[in-house]
Amino acid sequence: MNDEAASVAGLLDDATARITAACGLGKREARIEARALAAYAWQVEPAWLIAHDTDLLTDTQSAAFQSRLSRRLEGEPVAYILGEREFFGLRLQVTPDVLIPRPDTETLVQAVLDQAPADRPCRILDLGTGSGAIALALATHRPLAQILAVDRSSAALDVARNNAHRLGLKNVAFILSDWYAQLGVRNFDIIAANPPYIPKDDMHLSQGDLRFEPVEALQSDDGGLADIRRIVAGAPLHLSQGGWLLFEHGYDQEKASQALLRQADWFQVHTRLDLSGLPRVSGGQCP
Ligand code: GLN
Repeated sequence: MNDEAASVAGLLDDATARITAACGLGKREARIEARALAAYAWQVEPAWLIAHDTDLLTDTQSAAFQSRLSRRLEGEPVAYILGEREFFGLRLQVTPDVLIPRPDTETLVQAVLDQAPADRPCRILDLGTGSGAIALALATHRPLAQILAVDRSSAALDVARNNAHRLGLKNVAFILSDWYAQLGVRNFDIIAANPPYIPKDDMHLSQGDLRFEPVEALQSDDGGLADIRRIVAGAPLHLSQGGWLLFEHGYDQEKASQALLRQADWFQVHTRLDLSGLPRVSGGQCP
């Protein structure tokens, strides 16, 4: 860009082109990101950007935007620059201590909601809660449910607790625990988990947003299945009879996930597709 004052529209066009080139995104996605960064930099609503598209920007406004844009051009995910991401209609704070909530994970929330009664209490465990996305979405839609969210990262639990507080949700408790390790004997009706499941040698780990996310929330040993194995193996000790385990997995882990459940005599073993039509959530009922 030259030194003349830029208009809002001009600056957004320029940023869109630069994000497209630097981050390998389509133009539409790049424009959404440019608009999100601008709205954040200037503390305005996205609609303001349209109403004011011909406004000329002050140097301060331009600088506030350019500093965020240059972080994005270095590859940093927009969610970390903004410090927030929307998930299941909730605005959640996110930091580099937690995985950025994905739209695909809404499939898991929906699967749990389909099993969780709305008219009476039920007990739900969210394993590896991260930002709290799953637990807080469930807490919002099932106010009578008691939800326990665990993570082995205390930094992640701080983020999750803070999100619960900001959203005013009182039916979620948080415990520092490596999967079931600190839980003792507790009877849950449903266990939900979005564990790490990307194989260590997967090239996606060195691409895009994933480079900036906590690797312990993404990758798992044993071809990506080590944590899923532990979760399936430990679940019966913590579920009531007929209780549900529902977990997210990789697009190519449907067979392996179902096999783990069937080998242990789980009932109603099934898999759901995500928004892109890929197998994403498997589960069953406790034997
Ligand atoms: N779905 C994420 C991704 O592939 C991975 C999340 C996870 O490992 N739980 O980008």
